[in-house]
Amino acid sequence: MINDDLDRILIDRGAIAERVRALAGEVAATYADQPGGLTLVPVLSGSIIFLADLIRELPLRMKVALVHVSTYPGSATTPQTQRVVLELSGDVKDRNVLIVDDILDSGKTLRRVQAMVRERGARSVRSIVLLRKPSKAPADVPVEFVGFDVEDLFVVGYGLDYDDLYRNYPHVGVLKPGLIR
Ligand code: 5GP
Ligand code: MG
Repeated sequence: MINDDLDRILIDRGAIAERVRALAGEVAATYADQPGGLTLVPVLSGSIIFLADLIRELPLRMKVALVHVSTYPGSATTPQTQRVVLELSGDVKDRNVLIVDDILDSGKTLRRVQAMVRERGARSVRSIVLLRKPSKAPADVPVEFVGFDVEDLFVVGYGLDYDDLYRNYPHVGVLKPGLIR
């Protein structure tokens, strides 16, 4: 069972659910006066669980356009050269865009997706992340909504993977040291 591979829980599923509801409230208030609503741009694959939970708490008119940027291919636990696997799957021209990512680490991913969305003519661009490593997050990558600040550790669960595993672990946790190659 995957639980056997985890060393400890950093944020349990109940705390995540409560925080996601609060974030949805902040997002809903931000876009409440926009009749066209917004387009969410989730950064695949890590943001899928967060996206699914967030949008079901958002009573707004919305569209979803996917983007896939790979930074930690395979079993890497330090950022590698970025690869855009999928360009935006939908049109964001003149749309209010909210980029959704699992975690803000060095900021390279968000910096790139923010630029991509601006180039495509979005009317406004904001970003939301479930987790942020504040020791590393750069000042030039604005993130309007943050779930939790976490220590600079490699975390998994709630969508975040190691070697594409553990996305289904319901909490955010840390792997046993021996498991990371
Ligand atoms: P950045 O480009 O900000 O350095 O990294 C962001 C991306 O790297 C995230 O979208 C996420 O997929 C991945 N990432 C960064 N830190 C972690 C981590 O601690 N655990 C996992 N599983 N992925 C991470
Ligand atoms: Mg990611």
